[in-house]
Amino acid sequence: MVDSRTIKKLEERLTQEKAILEIELSDIGKVDQSNPRNWEGTNGDYETGTADAAILADRFEEKTTNSGIVTELEERFNNIKDALVRIKKDTYGKCNECGEKIPLERLEANPAAATCVAHAD
Ligand SMILES: [Zn+2]
Repeated sequence: MVDSRTIKKLEERLTQEKAILEIELSDIGKVDQSNPRNWEGTNGDYETGTADAAILADRFEEKTTNSGIVTELEERFNNIKDALVRIKKDTYGKCNECGEKIPLERLEANPAAATCVAHAD
């Protein structure tokens, strides 16, 4: 297993990154109240009553782009939250698929890694 000092350092990195992602996500999206793992892209309020089709199309495009970013950030955010849970449960550094330990270099490169190299997607 990874020694506790290294885990502590990785945990700090994860906590910092989680805080940054949370700010970024709140900026361009909002969390789904019924599912805290799900974020939705927002782009301000729509005023469908007065907007013409061209404006709506523009806004729709923005919203689509926005959701792409939200999805990426959300995935990263959830991976980090999962990694922090694994640290608490003392299962951090083990592959989710086979239970083998994840090489330290892999964790250093990505502290949120949940699988060994063989099971990387
Ligand atoms: Zn594995």
